[in-house]
Amino acid sequence: MDSLIAGLQAIVGARHCLIEPDTQAPFVADWRGIYHGRARAVVLPGTVAEVQAIVRLARQHHAPIVPQGGNTGLSGGATPDDSGRAILLSLKRLTKVRTIDPLNNSMIAEAGCILANLQQAANEADRLFPLSLSAEGTCQIGGNLATNAGGINVLRYGNARDLCLGLEIVLPDGTLLSNLHGLRKDNTGYDLKQIFIGSEGTLGIITAAALKLFPKPVARATSVVALSDLDVAPALLARCRAGLADQLVSFELLPRFGIELGQRFMPGLAWPLERLADWSILIEANTSSAAFDIRAAMEQCLADALDAGEIIDAAVASSEAQSLVLWQLREGIVEGQNRTGASIKHDVSVPVAQVPAFVKAGFEAVLAAWPEARLLAFGHLGDGNIHFNLTQPEGESKAQFLARTEGMNRIVHDLVARFAGSISAEHGIGQLRRAELQHRKPAAELDLMRRIKRMLDPDDLMNPGKLV
Ligand SMILES: Cc1cc2nc3c(=O)[nH]c(=O)nc-3n(C[C@H](O)[C@H](O)[C@H](O)COP(=O)(O)OP(=O)(O)OC[C@H]3O[C@@H](n4cnc5c(N)ncnc54)[C@H](O)[C@@H]3O)c2cc1C
Repeated sequence: MDSLIAGLQAIVGARHCLIEPDTQAPFVADWRGIYHGRARAVVLPGTVAEVQAIVRLARQHHAPIVPQGGNTGLSGGATPDDSGRAILLSLKRLTKVRTIDPLNNSMIAEAGCILANLQQAANEADRLFPLSLSAEGTCQIGGNLATNAGGINVLRYGNARDLCLGLEIVLPDGTLLSNLHGLRKDNTGYDLKQIFIGSEGTLGIITAAALKLFPKPVARATSVVALSDLDVAPALLARCRAGLADQLVSFELLPRFGIELGQRFMPGLAWPLERLADWSILIEANTSSAAFDIRAAMEQCLADALDAGEIIDAAVASSEAQSLVLWQLREGIVEGQNRTGASIKHDVSVPVAQVPAFVKAGFEAVLAAWPEARLLAFGHLGDGNIHFNLTQPEGESKAQFLARTEGMNRIVHDLVARFAGSISAEHGIGQLRRAELQHRKPAAELDLMRRIKRMLDPDDLMNPGKLV
């Protein structure tokens, strides 16, 4: 056995140092099965001190480290390359909620806490931890912060970055950087945590975080509305923002094709309106004040939108059970897409007012190049983040379809640039978009990113080949 493996076993115990291919298998491929790598060892430290010891030992041996959370990332950031040199460091065993402070509305959680468990812990303390995404039963808070995850509640509560008050991080030289005081105000110089949020494991390993909590909502109103035309969506959003104040939580674009795909694979999914329009919106608002009638506010908003001709039909859930049913329609789009075959995915954002023009121009440009393309544009319209995807057509093999990826990426990302948008709104860069980032990010920003990386990780051992 080589001395690195012996050293790792001495740190975490042989049980938590996996060297056989079959025990490593769940860790070395990504969620979508696009990336497959190899690891010299998969290590599962049980304490922060063990993380530090592993990082120091790896450095002595010039062994790269790939940090991994729940392995739900969609950009290949947590998968090692196939050289078999890397140590994959899983945060799975760091699962303590260290403290919950209801008065400060904050909690301190270790990186390996599953997101859904943190939502539950907050709930038990009569608080809300609002980060929410479909992968919440598996993804970890460390991974959420390392990717600056978004999800369905960003409009009201912000993304992972907005929910973070401080971080504990093991730097590439093993030093522990800790700022978990949970202060709401701290103007003592550079806000260092911001560099690590969204850094995808390339600058260090997040071991814990201080997170913001919120008062628990006492009521929510969920509706599905049929748009008269996609162009009116920004006006409807502005109306909802005004009518529902800062209580608007979600504003999700539902395309006809996406709903049809969902219904094909989840036959129980009933559409709540008389007819299925080309474009619909799922709207959700919540309130933590029992004095505010959120349902009445939603109904008023939608009545005004009907009068203004922005929408042609609307359904408002009248119970919690009905809210869940409406949300299943949104989830059905993802499920339907996954079960239809392969996808060429673009997780892009443009200024909110430009979303309709962007989607229409995107359809036109893709269909001009490939008239048989099956396009699916859906998602977080309220924050300008659209999942602009192509699904595998019937009668075309997966390989034939995926061979089009580069051409389609060029068309969509060129358009994103024309609309002054971003090629990665919430899924990060990883290895999937690394080459593309080199063309799309301003040179001065790329240069500064590389200099920060070199300064913190001069030997390029922390998740090499990802992001920068
Ligand atoms: C069904 C499904 C739905 C999804 N929906 C959304 C969505 O709505 N919004 C959204 O933003 N994302 C979404 N995602 C993507 C994914 O869930 C998020 O990117 C999530 O934040 C990743 O967390 P993870 O713990 O799985 O991280 P991993 O996949 O394990 O890792 C992701 C990256 O973070 C790094 N990393 C992980 N943990 C640490 C750590 N402790 N310290 C340093 N670096 C670390 C890894 O090296 C890698 O680069 C979805 C994924 C799936 C499968």
